[in-house]
Amino acid sequence: MQFVFASNNKNKILELQSMLPESITILSLESIGCFEDIPETADTIEGNAIQKANYVTEKFGYDCFADDTGLEVDALNGDPGVFSARYAGEQRNADDNMNKLLEALVVQNERKAQFKTVIALNLKGKQYLFTGIAKGEITLEKIGNQGFGYDPIFQPEGFLQTFAQLSLDVKNKISHRGKATQQLIIFLKETE
Ligand code: IMP
Repeated sequence: MQFVFASNNKNKILELQSMLPESITILSLESIGCFEDIPETADTIEGNAIQKANYVTEKFGYDCFADDTGLEVDALNGDPGVFSARYAGEQRNADDNMNKLLEALVVQNERKAQFKTVIALNLKGKQYLFTGIAKGEITLEKIGNQGFGYDPIFQPEGFLQTFAQLSLDVKNKISHRGKATQQLIIFLKETE
Protein backbone atom coordinates (compact mmCIF):
# COMPACT_ATOMS: atom_id res chain seq x y z
CA MET A 1 0.00 0.00 0.00
CA GLN A 2 1.27 3.45 -0.72
CA PHE A 3 0.09 6.84 0.39
CA VAL A 4 1.20 10.39 0.25
CA PHE A 5 1.72 11.94 3.67
CA ALA A 6 0.83 15.58 3.16
CA SER A 7 3.42 17.14 5.45
CA ASN A 8 6.73 18.95 5.12
CA ASN A 9 7.50 18.74 8.84
CA LYS A 10 10.56 16.49 9.09
CA ASN A 11 10.02 15.81 12.82
CA LYS A 12 6.53 14.52 12.16
CA ILE A 13 7.61 12.43 9.21
CA LEU A 14 10.34 10.84 11.36
CA GLU A 15 7.90 10.18 14.20
CA LEU A 16 5.34 8.67 11.85
CA GLN A 17 7.77 6.54 9.90
CA SER A 18 9.03 5.02 13.13
CA MET A 19 5.46 3.89 13.90
CA LEU A 20 4.42 2.51 10.51
CA PRO A 21 4.90 -1.10 9.34
CA GLU A 22 7.22 -1.64 6.36
CA SER A 23 4.33 -2.82 4.17
CA ILE A 24 3.07 0.75 4.05
CA THR A 25 5.10 3.02 1.80
CA ILE A 26 4.95 6.71 2.45
CA LEU A 27 5.44 8.98 -0.53
CA SER A 28 6.70 12.45 0.21
CA LEU A 29 5.17 15.56 -1.29
CA GLU A 30 8.47 16.13 -3.11
CA SER A 31 8.36 12.71 -4.74
CA ILE A 32 4.96 13.42 -6.32
CA GLY A 33 6.06 16.87 -7.49
CA CYS A 34 4.08 18.88 -4.95
CA PHE A 35 6.27 21.83 -4.02
CA GLU A 36 3.60 24.38 -3.20
CA ASP A 37 2.38 25.41 0.26
CA ILE A 38 -0.78 23.42 0.95
CA PRO A 39 -3.46 25.73 2.36
CA GLU A 40 -4.44 25.31 6.04
CA THR A 41 -7.16 27.89 6.39
CA ALA A 42 -9.98 25.98 8.09
CA ASP A 43 -11.11 27.07 11.56
CA THR A 44 -10.97 23.63 13.13
CA ILE A 45 -8.28 20.97 13.49
CA GLU A 46 -10.51 18.47 11.63
CA GLY A 47 -11.11 20.99 8.86
CA ASN A 48 -7.40 21.58 8.32
CA ALA A 49 -6.60 17.85 8.14
CA ILE A 50 -9.38 17.36 5.58
CA GLN A 51 -8.31 20.42 3.57
CA LYS A 52 -4.71 19.17 3.29
CA ALA A 53 -5.62 15.57 2.38
CA ASN A 54 -8.19 16.72 -0.20
CA TYR A 55 -5.72 19.13 -1.79
CA VAL A 56 -3.30 16.32 -2.63
CA THR A 57 -5.96 13.86 -3.72
CA GLU A 58 -7.80 16.38 -5.90
CA LYS A 59 -4.71 18.00 -7.46
CA PHE A 60 -2.40 15.00 -7.74
CA GLY A 61 -4.76 12.00 -7.75
CA TYR A 62 -3.09 10.07 -4.91
CA ASP A 63 -4.51 8.34 -1.88
CA CYS A 64 -3.29 10.53 0.90
CA PHE A 65 -3.42 11.24 4.58
CA ALA A 66 -2.82 14.48 6.40
CA ASP A 67 -2.76 15.33 10.05
CA ASP A 68 -3.40 18.46 11.99
CA THR A 69 -2.73 19.05 15.67
CA GLY A 70 -3.60 21.68 18.22
CA LEU A 71 -2.92 22.26 21.89
CA GLU A 72 -6.18 23.04 23.70
CA VAL A 73 -5.82 24.73 27.09
CA ASP A 74 -8.86 24.56 29.39
CA ALA A 75 -8.32 27.93 31.09
CA LEU A 76 -8.05 29.60 27.67
CA ASN A 77 -11.27 28.05 26.36
CA GLY A 78 -9.40 25.70 24.06
CA ASP A 79 -6.82 28.19 22.76
CA PRO A 80 -4.38 28.13 21.03
CA GLY A 81 -6.12 25.16 19.31
CA VAL A 82 -6.09 25.49 15.55
CA PHE A 83 -3.72 28.48 15.92
CA SER A 84 -1.06 26.51 17.87
CA ALA A 85 1.68 26.85 15.24
CA ARG A 86 1.25 30.64 14.90
CA TYR A 87 0.02 31.48 18.43
CA ALA A 88 2.69 34.19 18.92
CA GLY A 89 2.76 35.28 15.29
CA GLU A 90 3.39 34.26 11.72
CA GLN A 91 7.07 33.55 12.44
CA ARG A 92 5.79 30.26 13.95
CA ASN A 93 8.51 30.18 16.57
CA ALA A 94 8.19 27.47 19.23
CA ASP A 95 9.94 29.50 21.94
CA ASP A 96 7.76 32.56 21.30
CA ASN A 97 4.65 30.37 21.36
CA MET A 98 5.63 28.75 24.68
CA ASN A 99 6.51 32.12 26.24
CA LYS A 100 3.15 33.56 25.22
CA LEU A 101 1.32 30.57 26.65
CA LEU A 102 3.25 30.60 29.93
CA GLU A 103 2.48 34.31 30.26
CA ALA A 104 -1.22 33.77 29.54
CA LEU A 105 -1.30 31.24 32.40
CA VAL A 106 0.78 33.19 34.92
CA VAL A 107 -2.19 33.90 37.17
CA GLN A 108 -3.85 30.54 36.54
CA ASN A 109 -3.95 27.59 38.92
CA GLU A 110 -5.98 25.66 36.37
CA ARG A 111 -3.39 24.35 33.91
CA LYS A 112 -5.14 21.38 32.30
CA ALA A 113 -4.61 20.99 28.57
CA GLN A 114 -4.77 18.44 25.82
CA PHE A 115 -3.11 17.86 22.49
CA LYS A 116 -5.51 16.77 19.78
CA THR A 117 -4.51 15.25 16.46
CA VAL A 118 -6.88 14.50 13.63
CA ILE A 119 -5.76 12.40 10.68
CA ALA A 120 -7.84 12.58 7.51
CA LEU A 121 -7.34 9.64 5.15
CA ASN A 122 -8.51 9.60 1.56
CA LEU A 123 -8.59 6.00 0.38
CA LYS A 124 -10.18 4.74 -2.82
CA GLY A 125 -12.72 7.55 -3.02
CA LYS A 126 -13.71 7.49 0.66
CA GLN A 127 -12.64 9.65 3.57
CA TYR A 128 -11.90 8.47 7.11
CA LEU A 129 -11.02 10.50 10.22
CA PHE A 130 -8.94 9.32 13.20
CA THR A 131 -8.60 11.37 16.40
CA GLY A 132 -5.98 11.04 19.13
CA ILE A 133 -5.94 12.96 22.39
CA ALA A 134 -3.19 13.32 25.02
CA LYS A 135 -4.33 14.91 28.27
CA GLY A 136 -1.96 16.68 30.62
CA GLU A 137 -0.94 19.97 32.18
CA ILE A 138 1.05 23.04 31.21
CA THR A 139 4.12 23.28 33.44
CA LEU A 140 5.26 26.51 35.11
CA GLU A 141 8.44 26.65 33.01
CA LYS A 142 10.17 24.93 30.11
CA ILE A 143 11.77 21.61 31.04
CA GLY A 144 13.65 19.24 28.71
CA ASN A 145 15.16 19.60 25.27
CA GLN A 146 13.80 16.79 23.10
CA GLY A 147 10.89 16.88 20.70
CA PHE A 148 9.50 20.08 19.24
CA GLY A 149 6.77 22.69 19.55
CA TYR A 150 5.21 22.86 23.03
CA ASP A 151 6.90 19.67 24.27
CA PRO A 152 8.98 21.41 27.02
CA ILE A 153 5.87 22.80 28.74
CA PHE A 154 3.49 19.83 28.39
CA GLN A 155 3.43 17.21 31.13
CA PRO A 156 1.30 14.26 30.07
CA GLU A 157 -1.11 12.70 32.60
CA GLY A 158 0.56 10.00 34.71
CA PHE A 159 4.10 11.28 34.10
CA LEU A 160 6.44 13.49 36.13
CA GLN A 161 8.36 14.54 33.00
CA THR A 162 7.40 16.77 30.12
CA PHE A 163 7.15 15.46 26.56
CA ALA A 164 10.57 17.08 26.01
CA GLN A 165 12.10 14.77 28.64
CA LEU A 166 10.61 11.55 27.26
CA SER A 167 12.21 9.38 24.58
CA LEU A 168 10.55 9.38 21.17
CA ASP A 169 9.59 5.77 21.82
CA VAL A 170 7.67 6.59 25.00
CA LYS A 171 6.17 9.75 23.50
CA ASN A 172 4.90 7.80 20.46
CA LYS A 173 3.04 5.39 22.74
CA ILE A 174 1.13 8.04 24.67
CA SER A 175 0.97 11.04 22.37
CA HIS A 176 -2.02 12.45 20.50
CA ARG A 177 -0.33 11.77 17.15
CA GLY A 178 0.76 8.30 18.31
CA LYS A 179 -2.82 7.41 19.27
CA ALA A 180 -4.32 8.78 16.04
CA THR A 181 -1.62 6.96 14.04
CA GLN A 182 -2.29 3.68 15.86
CA GLN A 183 -5.92 3.93 14.79
CA LEU A 184 -4.84 4.64 11.22
CA ILE A 185 -2.47 1.65 11.25
CA ILE A 186 -5.12 -0.72 12.64
CA PHE A 187 -7.56 0.49 9.98
CA LEU A 188 -5.02 0.09 7.15
CA LYS A 189 -4.05 -3.41 8.33
CA GLU A 190 -7.71 -4.45 8.37
CA THR A 191 -8.24 -2.96 4.92
CA GLU A 192 -5.05 -4.36 3.32
P1 IMP B 1 0.73 20.43 13.22
O1 IMP B 1 -0.67 20.56 12.77
O2 IMP B 1 1.11 19.01 13.50
O3 IMP B 1 1.71 21.15 12.33
O4 IMP B 1 0.84 21.11 14.65
C1 IMP B 1 0.54 22.46 14.84
C2 IMP B 1 1.38 22.98 15.98
O5 IMP B 1 1.05 22.29 17.19
C3 IMP B 1 2.87 22.78 15.82
O6 IMP B 1 3.46 23.83 15.12
C4 IMP B 1 3.36 22.74 17.25
O7 IMP B 1 3.50 24.03 17.73
C5 IMP B 1 2.21 22.07 17.95
N1 IMP B 1 2.45 20.61 18.06
C6 IMP B 1 1.97 19.65 17.26
N2 IMP B 1 2.36 18.43 17.68
C7 IMP B 1 3.12 18.65 18.77
C8 IMP B 1 3.84 17.77 19.65
O8 IMP B 1 3.87 16.55 19.53
N3 IMP B 1 4.49 18.38 20.65
C9 IMP B 1 4.50 19.72 20.85
N4 IMP B 1 3.88 20.57 20.04
C10 IMP B 1 3.19 20.04 19.01
